[in-house]
Amino acid sequence: MNTLTLMVVLAVLGLLVVVGAGLALVRRRGHGPGAVLDAEAAQASGTAEAPALDAPAPLSGRMARLRGRLRGQALGAGLLGLLSRERLDEEVWDEVEEVLITADVGVGPTRELVDRLRTRVAGASSREPAAVRALLREELLTLVGPELDRTLRTRVARDSAAGGEGVRPAVVLVVGVNGTGKTTTVGKLARVLVADGRTVILGAADTFRAAAADQLQTWGDRVGAPVVRGPEAGDPASVAFDAVRQGAQGGYDVVLVDTAGRLQNKVGLMDELGKVKRVIEKQGPVDEVLLVLDATTGQNGLVQARVFAEVVNVTGIVLTKLDGTAKGGIVVAVQRELGVPVKLVGLGEGADDLAPFDPEVFVDALLGD
Ligand code: GDP
Repeated sequence: MNTLTLMVVLAVLGLLVVVGAGLALVRRRGHGPGAVLDAEAAQASGTAEAPALDAPAPLSGRMARLRGRLRGQALGAGLLGLLSRERLDEEVWDEVEEVLITADVGVGPTRELVDRLRTRVAGASSREPAAVRALLREELLTLVGPELDRTLRTRVARDSAAGGEGVRPAVVLVVGVNGTGKTTTVGKLARVLVADGRTVILGAADTFRAAAADQLQTWGDRVGAPVVRGPEAGDPASVAFDAVRQGAQGGYDVVLVDTAGRLQNKVGLMDELGKVKRVIEKQGPVDEVLLVLDATTGQNGLVQARVFAEVVNVTGIVLTKLDGTAKGGIVVAVQRELGVPVKLVGLGEGADDLAPFDPEVFVDALLGD
């Protein structure tokens, strides 16, 4: 064998080794506890084997999509029609009340709004459509609470206990009944954070349904967020613990933990979720507990909300499927029920159909502006 042949053979062998190592890395990436190290290795070597990732849509303007998606809202159009009537007698006010109750605003907030509208309409100099609309807009906005702090706590200040040294990842626990859109929301939220330039690691702590972990894996893979998984039917708390540990070790900005939502009974739920939270807290605080509620479930959703609020300290509400409901008033009712703001809303089944909740855009959408 001459020197040239030897060099060609060596070059081919070298190429095979590099390609083989690359393939092994891609296969392992995102699966289990090795995920963090894999992601780092790919980054460090600067290799180009990483699969093409999605570029999530920017956040600005997302909420405006709601306008075209709110289905047949009787709330805005109905109220505008009633308040523009020539004579506003008791019967009309009863109808106003009925529209609000039907839209799931809730009894207490409905009474408040009707009282305020009565006072303001009585004192109004004009009942031109534009004036009625402006007045109604203002009052609906007050009811939704534009002053509530809807910031997602996903940025952690420098840890003063550690002498201002490392910054730990923010930990977000996502809870809710199965079927409300919890796993989808975790996936969409990962995209929201990635779109905002943050690094994210996901914890699949719903170990009771293999499909949930697979679903989360797909979401994570699309934006390059590793997913920490456990054995099927394994201990959810240990998966959550691992996700937070790997998040800290890997220097991630945010850890999102998906949980199981089997609402079999309150004691069972309390044991399960309470343990997940306690175990995470061995490493540091949980910064945000997001309760996912399906906007189309009305009163049933409120009952769920109450149960979860008793079990964990909910800090924000994600209202999913707002695109499929004619009862936008649930935003008001659930905030009143829990004393916690709606922070995010689901606007559809698309990957980027999750938006930070904006009260003004919401009220404008209700009024059909
Ligand atoms: P989980 O059991 O709570 O984790 O629920 P999933 O995340 O599996 O979602 C249940 C279904 O709700 C899926 O078909 C989702 O696509 C759908 N879904 C979730 N969020 C929304 C939303 O904002 N709008 C609509 N229309 N569908 C949604």
